[in-house]
Amino acid sequence: MKPSIYDFDFDGLTELMVANGFKKFHGDQIFQWLYRRRVTSFDDMTDLSKPLRQWLNDSLSCQPLTVLARQVSRDGTRKYLFGLSDGSSIETVLMHYDYGDSVCVTSQVGCNMGCTFCASGLLKKQRDLTSGEMCQQVMMVQKDLDADGVRLSHIVVMGTGEPFDNYDNVMRFCATVNHDHGLGIGARHITISTCGLVPGIRRFSDEQVQYNLAVSLHAPSDALRQRLMPVAKVYGLEELMDALRYYVSKNNRRLSFEYILLAGVNDTDECVGQLAKLTKGFDVYVNLIPYNSVKEKDYASSSDKQAMLFYDKLMTAGVRCTLRQKHGDDIDAACGQLRSRYERSRQG
Ligand code: SAH
Repeated sequence: MKPSIYDFDFDGLTELMVANGFKKFHGDQIFQWLYRRRVTSFDDMTDLSKPLRQWLNDSLSCQPLTVLARQVSRDGTRKYLFGLSDGSSIETVLMHYDYGDSVCVTSQVGCNMGCTFCASGLLKKQRDLTSGEMCQQVMMVQKDLDADGVRLSHIVVMGTGEPFDNYDNVMRFCATVNHDHGLGIGARHITISTCGLVPGIRRFSDEQVQYNLAVSLHAPSDALRQRLMPVAKVYGLEELMDALRYYVSKNNRRLSFEYILLAGVNDTDECVGQLAKLTKGFDVYVNLIPYNSVKEKDYASSSDKQAMLFYDKLMTAGVRCTLRQKHGDDIDAACGQLRSRYERSRQG
């Protein structure tokens, strides 16, 4: 199988051109054709010479992803199931906010983190996605939006998979979509979400990039966190908080905690006190997120009333937090839901 052109970031593409006897600026031209004019065939890159187009056709692929399913929710959330060249399927989600349109990108086929509430982990990790496969998710959604003249403004790496378990490809993907000769999505509009892989957080801290970091906390004590997230048995809260203090000391970017609200599990008064203690003196926002229920899992989302109450109590305790709206709950919007259903129907 030929390598995908989308796997090359801007610098990689210019280097590739030079290494094969073409000019550096050809890399720039191709990059703009892909990400600004969004063509999906080398033959459409009409200002390239015939020999260069021929070489591209012979050496590389720019085949778009296959759309296996597309669901649109009442609130405008769109969920895509894409097929990859090896037959795997992945999910990508588009969400509308008042500040713009945000795409949620998948970083691995399946996930090994095993969070007990999550549908993604129903299917174990088969492989990492390449940076090109992540770029293509964004391009497929952007092309869908082009029909309405809408430009994506934000990217979150919060789809299936653990981004820091696929570190290099995720960073190359971010560099590609951030580059100002292409999509030019501002670094401050790109967020990477981790379940708390401490070595990844430390490595990311040293990069001094402007992307945002989100950490899936979901529980303010080791005991509860270990019940919800196996990763907490490897990296306890103290170690995690140390790494985050390091991140904050090296970067001037906003850090946020994600906290899904599970009825009777992590929305108790005890959790309010523990969260306040954990975040005291620490520059962090807590995003309270309604839980999208998953049929195979025994968790329920906190009621709207309980969510408001929890939010109020946290605010009173001095924790800065926001309560997020539910998106796409009339479609299979929970991470991994659409895919696991599709894969099961294919197997069965
Ligand atoms: N592995 C990374 C990124 C992928 S998960 C991480 O853990 O952060 C993205 C976010 O969705 C995480 O906060 C995850 O806990 C959350 N999530 C998983 N299943 C969910 C569900 N059913 N409803 C709401 N959020 C969910």
